[in-house]
Amino acid sequence: MSRSSPIPTSAAPADLDALRALLIGLRLDRAAAALAAVLSDAVRDDLNPPDFLRRLLGVESDGREESRIRTSLKLSGLPLGPTLATFDFAFQPAIERSRIEMLATGQWIRDNQSLLLLGPPGVGKTHLAVALGVAAVERGLSTTYFRIEELLHALRHDARTPPAHLRRRKYMNSALLIVDEVGFEPFSREDANLFFRLVSYRYQRGAICITSNKAIRDWPEMLAGDETLAAAILDRLLHASHVLAIKGRSYRLRDLEATLAARA
Ligand code: ADP
Ligand code: MG
Repeated sequence: MSRSSPIPTSAAPADLDALRALLIGLRLDRAAAALAAVLSDAVRDDLNPPDFLRRLLGVESDGREESRIRTSLKLSGLPLGPTLATFDFAFQPAIERSRIEMLATGQWIRDNQSLLLLGPPGVGKTHLAVALGVAAVERGLSTTYFRIEELLHALRHDARTPPAHLRRRKYMNSALLIVDEVGFEPFSREDANLFFRLVSYRYQRGAICITSNKAIRDWPEMLAGDETLAAAILDRLLHASHVLAIKGRSYRLRDLEATLAARA
């Protein structure tokens, strides 16, 4: 098997400048910036030319991917902080790690399914929703995060516009729409209708993740007491869905619990 010979000597500065200009002309700015360092590493490590090239283009490729993720995270509106790496599965045994890892692959998003994260305050609904959003962005799936109040504000603003004209709205066209904190405030009838319109537009077109402190049986009451509308919304949400009802303890209150236990 023939093996290409190592890069023999360091290149003359003028050659390096010309190569750098060529890389910049091809919009490979990161590779251009890393050229001298990668080249001297290549000489040091006795790399053959294909390995040198792979390393140089790897710098460009990794840099692009990082910058894509950074930009997409910024555009998504996802709060900074929660990730799957910082979720303590041991604290919340009701949540199976394997199930969350499966969801983190994003296949349910590609299949336009729904995910409902239900449970009382503090059990990690927002943390998991955001962490799954971050995982989706990392896999190249466009993601948008709204608290329900902000979403309803946007929907009210667009209320008179036909859905066909709303295709460029992020809440319409993201692969994954995360709607957090549904149920803290009851919906007005108008808001419930706007929410229905959104859910039915996205049905089988995009994935939706909803977090709520209200169990499904309480949704009709939450949705302005309109049972028909609630049934229509739930029908679409539950058609192809993952439902995680989290019954565990509040993570927010764990320190308080510990303090009280110590005093008892
Ligand atoms: P919820 O949305 O269910 O009210 P959050 O996801 O906001 O709860 O959780 C409350 C706080 O506790 C957040 O700061 C969150 O990051 C943290 N938290 C909740 N559950 C866990 C967990 N299992 N591991 C690590 N942090 C958690
Ligand atoms: Mg929350």
